[in-house]
Amino acid sequence: MGLLKLENISKVFPHARGFLKAIRDINLEVKEGEFVTIVGPSGCGKSTLLRIINGLIPPTEGRVFYNGKEQKGINLDCAMVFQTFALVPWLTVFENIELALIPRGLSKEERVRKIEFYIDKVGLEGFEEAYPRELSGGMKQRVGLARALAVEPKILLMDEPFSSLDALTAINLREELIDFWNDPQISLKTIIMVTHIIEEAVELGDRVVVLSPHPGTILDDIRVDLPRPRDKMQNGFNEIVNKIFSIIA
Ligand code: ADP
Ligand code: MG
Repeated sequence: MGLLKLENISKVFPHARGFLKAIRDINLEVKEGEFVTIVGPSGCGKSTLLRIINGLIPPTEGRVFYNGKEQKGINLDCAMVFQTFALVPWLTVFENIELALIPRGLSKEERVRKIEFYIDKVGLEGFEEAYPRELSGGMKQRVGLARALAVEPKILLMDEPFSSLDALTAINLREELIDFWNDPQISLKTIIMVTHIIEEAVELGDRVVVLSPHPGTILDDIRVDLPRPRDKMQNGFNEIVNKIFSIIA
């Protein structure tokens, strides 16, 4: 069995006129070390799926297995990177990262060591005492990444992490994410990223899971065997992108 297994997951939310089915019958297995991208249109339940995986909300039906055991409640082995960064405005860069480490029971010395290490890794040395309002979008997302990496999660969950950044910043951060994933000093192995950008999903994932418009169901699960670093001009890249477009359309 993989590191993570979703079995017949559905989620229904209460809605003004009754109920709204956000996702339906999701079956998915993720192995340790895989980078899985999940692509689907806005509103198809991508964020809902990630929140079920990290245990922030329970599924209405189905079960989540982590390391072979049924997962109930928050999974502290997961860390999330959000589209909107989700930084606390009145805390500094250092304190924002520290906030994620406090529930993990580390000593102050260990926290400081990890925070400094990951701030350097994401290229924010010198900004430890800065507040989020003083940072560009790209820098805020670097804090979001450092905060998630500092937890040294078994699974990194990413919710459209580059969607609200300008195109050039997004290109750089995608490349850096792959560098972090390959960096022997960083224990980042398994990544699950949701996105509505098909090219991004194909550039990054070992597999691209394609979701239908809402309620989100899995339409296809496509292996991407292209060598990295990937780019749009590469042989075979556009064929996969076009295939996904034709599945969603
Ligand atoms: P995506 O991330 O793919 O854009 P979401 O998972 O945010 O989609 O939402 C899927 C559907 O579920 C949407 O119709 C959204 O309005 C609804 N939804 C999400 N969270 C809630 C909630 N807490 N309460 C009610 N409806 C919700
Ligand atoms: Mg979303």
